[in-house]
Parts: sequence; structure tokens; C-alpha cells
Amino acid sequence: MSEFTKTLCPYCGVGCGLEVSPPAQHNKATNRDSQGNPIWRVRGDKAHPSSQGMVCVKGATIAESLDKNRLHYPMVRDSLDQEFRRVSWDEAFNIITQRIQTIRFTQGPEALCMYGSGQFQTEDYYIAQKLMKGCLGSNNFDANSRLCMSSAVSGYIQSFGADGPPCCYEDLELTDCAFLIGTNTAECHPIVFNRLAKYHKKNRKVKMIVVDPRRTPTAEVADLHLAIRPGTDIDLLNGIAHLLMRWNYIDTIFMDDCTSNFPAYAEVIRHYPPEVVARQCGISIEDLETAARYWGESERVLSLWSMGVNQSSEGTAKVRTIINLHLMTGQIGKPGAGPFSLTGQPNAMGGREAGGLAHLLPGYRVVKNPQHRAEVEELWGLKPGQISPNPGLTAWDMITGLENSAVELLWIAATNPAVSMPDLERTKKALLRSPFTIYQDAYYPTETSAYAHVLLPAAQWGEKTGVMTNSERVVTLCQAFRQPPREAKADWEIFAEVGRRLGFKREFTFANSAEVYAEFVKLTKNRPCDMTGLSHAQLQSEGPTQWPHPEESRGSRGAGEAGGEASANRSGKRLYTNLRFHTSDGRARFGAYYSKGLAEPPNPDYPFVLTNGRLYGHWHTQTRTGRIEKICKMHPEPFIEIHPRDAAKLNIVDNQYIEVRSRRGKAKFPAKVTKAIAPGTVFVPMHWGSLWADNAEANALTHPESCPDSLQPELKACAVQLIPI
Ligand code: SF4
Repeated sequence: MSEFTKTLCPYCGVGCGLEVSPPAQHNKATNRDSQGNPIWRVRGDKAHPSSQGMVCVKGATIAESLDKNRLHYPMVRDSLDQEFRRVSWDEAFNIITQRIQTIRFTQGPEALCMYGSGQFQTEDYYIAQKLMKGCLGSNNFDANSRLCMSSAVSGYIQSFGADGPPCCYEDLELTDCAFLIGTNTAECHPIVFNRLAKYHKKNRKVKMIVVDPRRTPTAEVADLHLAIRPGTDIDLLNGIAHLLMRWNYIDTIFMDDCTSNFPAYAEVIRHYPPEVVARQCGISIEDLETAARYWGESERVLSLWSMGVNQSSEGTAKVRTIINLHLMTGQIGKPGAGPFSLTGQPNAMGGREAGGLAHLLPGYRVVKNPQHRAEVEELWGLKPGQISPNPGLTAWDMITGLENSAVELLWIAATNPAVSMPDLERTKKALLRSPFTIYQDAYYPTETSAYAHVLLPAAQWGEKTGVMTNSERVVTLCQAFRQPPREAKADWEIFAEVGRRLGFKREFTFANSAEVYAEFVKLTKNRPCDMTGLSHAQLQSEGPTQWPHPEESRGSRGAGEAGGEASANRSGKRLYTNLRFHTSDGRARFGAYYSKGLAEPPNPDYPFVLTNGRLYGHWHTQTRTGRIEKICKMHPEPFIEIHPRDAAKLNIVDNQYIEVRSRRGKAKFPAKVTKAIAPGTVFVPMHWGSLWADNAEANALTHPESCPDSLQPELKACAVQLIPI
């Protein structure tokens, strides 16, 4: 038997396969972390179809985070000014269930909320949905994925009738033109970028366009970098469409056969001639024309995007406007082409499949649809009408719900909202008001643990077996290779035990996570994300498998090896190869949008646009990576990027501290004077919470204005003033 256990990197949505072996077999005294714990050995899994053995620094060093600052025991306190006291699981469960019962029967189930995470395995997500939406009758389950990719979800649903990125990573090496917008792929999705950059380097005819206000490492290797003004994405996309139309690069046969609503869109793009668009975006007409020509002349165009598009008050409109370009040129459903959203978290996709947002139900269903609710109620054995028809509270709604006392119990798991939510001062004040907060996490302390009444120790990566789905719909079994420390338990086990103690014994009889997964896949039958051919045993013996993978595909790795793009979307690597969509008439819908710009544009009082993002080594709020020496050396401190022209106007020099003020809060950072950022815009990394630096929280500055469709906040941009210190 191999000494290596196969699993998946638990950081980003690329979903790289890893192999892990125990420390005792290879280490001597040197192979220990700074706290003296032996370090497990990690290497890339060459057999994993998505990553083929590659890993970035985060994946390579993940094992170093396993034993540091772990939460080992349940702890409770009556109020936030008290110290925590250790309790047994039995006592913790009793406290939680009594509180839930009281609230349920006095204020109603809508006063209960759970805020989960793209770090969950699918089994954790699924059991949380069954508990909250099924048994308790509250749709108030949302995940930090709301802050990450919910605009991609709503964009896909509105354009195609169903969620699900239609592309696969193989398209990276089959395209003629890669159009990257709002994504610093080189730092945030490094292995996807490696594949694309290698292919681009080898094939000089292949074009790469990068749209980003910063000259990022991604933009460095592009053939064309469009450093547009923040908030002008729709202007640019409509401007490219205008030129594609003018130069007759459109695919009328595809549009006639497969799409609807083109006339409304054509009317919109008429108003985006190159002179207007170039001025609005702050780019040259020549560059705009080059972008349109690259797109129009390429046989296969692949667009990639992530948070720069999704985290916007017009996020859904941006996603649909990207999709429009594919629809008008027939660039979908064939190798090397399609609109491809890159998910931020390792299992954001699994969360979507399991219904892990406030408006969703398992199997790509939505709570507003009576038939969907009835199907889930039947499969869960609930009485008709048990699932509420109203979408629940989203991430930000939970904060406002605490403010107006609509929320009586907030259960936070595997996420750190005291750093990652917008408008942090307001967020923290709201968390202080919470009558009862349960915080379930692998680590302690985090910034959020300060706001908890109950702490529950969770098992993490390597300590529980479960499934995750990456950005290209490849499902991987992440196998446990060690025991959880002390009293930590898998998230799904904690939810299930609470369910049983609340009286739902029949609903939570699972002996292990394989049984949970087996029940979950039944809910995907005949749905766009059909996974009825998958099980833990199948994934273990046959390896990572792409969905759709219905029962009849058992015995193959489905899209991973069989079918190819010639077969219909049941077994093809790409969705929509048969060019029928999930809308009622089978046609993809054009979305017609005029640009609205930023929710908070700059003005004379707040003259700069602040944008933010990730760095290559760190992950989100540093709960893991802040404890890894190599990564901390790579990125020792936060900073603010400012263009030399702006720095000169304000008499700012390199490394000088700048106080950054928005209408909501302030922070301070040492200056990095660089031409990588456009004049008028400044950039800060989003990783530093109060545990890691004083007053360097990017979200102290951001605002919660959200996209009306996806309800995703515009974390990417706000107006600020700069004061040299
Ligand atoms: Fe992990 Fe993402 Fe790096 Fe792959 S690219 S090793 S999934 S962080």
C-alpha cells in the first residue's frame, strides 16, 4: 500500500491534487515546524487531471499549518467580557440546542442564522442545509462564497438557465485568445496561470488580453494590457461588442439558433462607440480596437474572471456582459472557448451544488421555485411546506439583522468575518450586539473568536474525509490522513449531532461521510450537476471525476477521459456542447446593460479609488498562512501601491506611512510608489486583520453596497483620501 494519501489543496478554487505522507517515515529533527511539531510531507499528485502534479507555495507548505494555534475543546462564556471556560461536548450541545429551541418557539426560525464557508467539504455543506433549511425551516444559511462568486452564479443562471462554469482547464491549452478580466490569475490561481502562460509562451500566435487597473504579474505577460478605470468594465465590454458588430465578426447562425434577446442588447451597444468608450475607460482607441480585433479574429476565445468582476454592485451585469461577447461570436461549447469564472475557494463549487447560499437548495435548485422545494422536501422526508419559500438572509443581511435585532443566534463556521466583511467597524459593532454567537473553527484565536459566546473545535484538512469540487467541476475525494487533534470534530458531525438532539434523529442517522455523500448525490439526479454516478468508493478507486456524472456513466471518469467534446453535455468536458441551454426555450439569453459605474465614485473629498486583492503566498485572512514562516517572509507586511505622479503631488516617498480614510473608517500602510498602479487608484492587500498588524485592515475602508441580483458586496472599490504621515 502506498505511503501517500491522496487529497486536495484546501486553499483556492484551482483544486490541485496533493499526496501526503506521514512525518515519521522521512523526517529527522529538522523537519518540524516552529512549535516543534513534526511536519507531514506534501507533494503534487501527478495523476490529478486538474493540476498534473503542480502546486504553488501555499499547497506546498500547507502541512505546516496543521498543528499551530488549534482550538482543541468546546468553550463557552455568558458574555463577551468574560473569559472562556472549557466544557464537554455534551454540555456545549445542550447549551446550543436549548438556545435554538427557545428562539425557534419564541421568535421563529428566521431568527436563527448560519454563516458557512467555501472551506467546507460538500458533506459539511449538505448537512448544514438539511439542518437549517429542512429541519429548522430557516433559509438563513449563507456562506463566505457570497463575497466571492455569487455574481458568477446569478450571471450563469440568468444567461444559461443554470449555474455551472461551462469550460474546463484543458481549454487553457486549446484557445487562440485568452481574455482575462478582473483576475490576477498569476497570484490568485497560480496553477491555472502556469498552464496558460506556458502554452501562451510556446504558441506566439495565441493572444492574451488582461483587463485590470493594476499592472499585475498576470498583466506582465499579456500581449495587451487594458488598465481601465475601476468600474468601467461594462463600458469596455460593450465597446468591444460595438466593434465586433461594426466589423461583422458576429456569428448570426449561432445567434439565430441558440440565443434570445439580441435586439435589446444590440440597442445598448449602439451607444458605446470607441471614442466614448476609450475616454470613459481611460485607454486608447487603438488598444480598444486591438482587443476587439484579437477577439474577432480568433477561432477560439476563452474568457476568465474572478473577484474583480464578481465583487461589484453590478457584478451580475458584468458577468452577463462577458457572456454576451461569447454568445454574439459563437464562442461557447467548443474546445478552447467559453466564459470561465474562477472560483476563489476550494469548495465554492461544492457549496453551489449542495445549495450553500441563502437562495439555493441542493442540486442547483432555488428556494423560490415551488417544485424545487417539493422535490427536496420529498427526498428529505419532510412534510410539504416545511421549506420556507423565502430566500434567507445573505452574509451582509446577517450583519444588518444583528443591528435591527432580527437575528438572535448566529452560528459562524470556518470563516473569519471580523476581517473579511465590508465596513468592518460597522460589522464589528453588529457582532458585539449578537445575543448568541457560536464560532466553529479549527483555529484559535482568530479575529472573530473575540465575538463568540461558544467556541466549537472543528477538524480541518487531512482530519476528515469528504469531497470538494474545483472550478472546472472536477470532484475529488479528500481523504483523512490523521486524527483530529484532541476533541475536534468534523463540521458535518457537529451539525448532525445538534440535529439529533433537536429531535431529528431519523434525518441524521449517518455513520460516516460516505453515507452523507450518498444521500446528497440522490438530490442531484436529473439536475444540471447530476452526480448520481459518484460515491466515495468510486472516487477513491477511479480518482477525481468531472460532473455531470449520472449513474449511467459509472465506470468511467466521465468528462475526465471519456466522451470528449463531441458528446453531448452528459459526458462532455464542456457543458453546452449540444448548444441547448437550461432556459425554458433552450436558448441562452443576452443581457442588455448600460454601465452604472462604481457605487462610490471618487469626488473632491475622497479623490482616489481604493482597490484591493490577494498576494501570491497569503490566503484570505491569514488564519493558516500567517503561521507559515516561508510565506510570512515572502510577504512580511501590508503596503499601499500608489502611482509616482500621485505620490509626487502628495509629497509621498517609498515606505512612508499613509493614512487612508474612507467615509467609514481608516487604516495606515507604508507606501510602495510604483507605476504598476494607474494614477488615481491605489491598491492594498486584503490579508491583514487585527491579529497580524495594527490598523491595516482593507475592509475598514470598503462599503457593503451590493449587486441587486447576486447580493454580492462591492468589496473591490471605494473612494478614499490619502494623508501622508
Ligand atoms: Fe493550492 Fe490553489 Fe496553489 Fe493549487 S494553485 S496549490 S489549489 S493554492
